[in-house]
Amino acid sequence: MNCIIWNSVVALSLACFFLPPSRAQAVSTNLTFADGQIACELSSQRETIPDLVLATLPVAMDAARKAIGTPNEPVRLSIRLLEPPPFYKRLKTMFQVEAYAVQENDEIRLHAGHDPLKLAFRLGHELSHWLVYKRYSVRPPLWLDEGLAQMVAGSAAEACARTHKQDLERPRPPKLDEHMYSLGELIALRTYPRSAACSAAFYWQAEALVGAIHKRLGPAEFAVYLGLLCAADAPAWDIPLRERWYFSDWDLNWLAEQIRPGPNGK
Ligand SMILES: [Zn+2]
Repeated sequence: MNCIIWNSVVALSLACFFLPPSRAQAVSTNLTFADGQIACELSSQRETIPDLVLATLPVAMDAARKAIGTPNEPVRLSIRLLEPPPFYKRLKTMFQVEAYAVQENDEIRLHAGHDPLKLAFRLGHELSHWLVYKRYSVRPPLWLDEGLAQMVAGSAAEACARTHKQDLERPRPPKLDEHMYSLGELIALRTYPRSAACSAAFYWQAEALVGAIHKRLGPAEFAVYLGLLCAADAPAWDIPLRERWYFSDWDLNWLAEQIRPGPNGK
C-alpha cells in the first residue's frame, strides 16, 4: 500500500487486541512536555524504547497541545508499548496493521509499528482524546471528539512528514458517497457506526466539520467553542456559532457543504 490510509476505525476495531498489562515491564523512560507540566512515562516489555517512538512522541504532543492546549494542573500519562497482535488475529480483521493505539484514562496502549507518519497519526489521535479528557470534565459530542482527534492526527502526521521529507497522502475513504451522513445525522450520532464503511464516512466527515469550524473561528476562538461544548450544560452545537460568532443560515449551509466530498475528492 503506497498510500497512507489509516483511520480510527482500525484502532477501534483492534482495541480488543490489547490485553491487560500483566507481564513485568522490561524498561521504562520518562519524558516531560510543556515545561514539565506533562509528565509521560513510556514503558515496554522489550529491552529498549524504540528511537522512532522517542522521536515521534514530541511531534504528536506538540500538534495536540497546539489544538487543545495544556492542562492547568500537572498531569501524568503512561504510554505502554505493546507487541503486535498475533498474526491470526490480524488476518481476521482484514486490516493492514501498521500502528494502532487506544487511550483509556491516563494510559495509552500502543503498537508502534515502523512507519513514523502512521505512528505520528495514531499518537496524535489518542493524545487529542487524552488532552480533552484532562482539560474538560465532560466529553464533547462524538463528532467533535473524533473529528478533533483526526484533525490533530493529520497535523502530527504532516509535521512528521516534513521532518522525514515525505509527502502525506490521505485519500478519502472509498464508497464515501454511498455512506455519507447529513449534517443533522452527523452531529446527532451518540454511538460509533457499526459498519466499516459508515465508520470511515463518519471519521472523514467529522474531521471535515471540525476542520471547517476551526478554520472559520481560528485556533483561539475554536478553543472557546470546544470549552462550551465540553460542559455539563453544553448548548446545542450550533447555538454558540449563531449567538457568539454570528453564523447565519448561509454559514450553516456552508458547513453542510464542507462535509461532502468535492468533485475531485479532498
Ligand atoms: Zn478516537
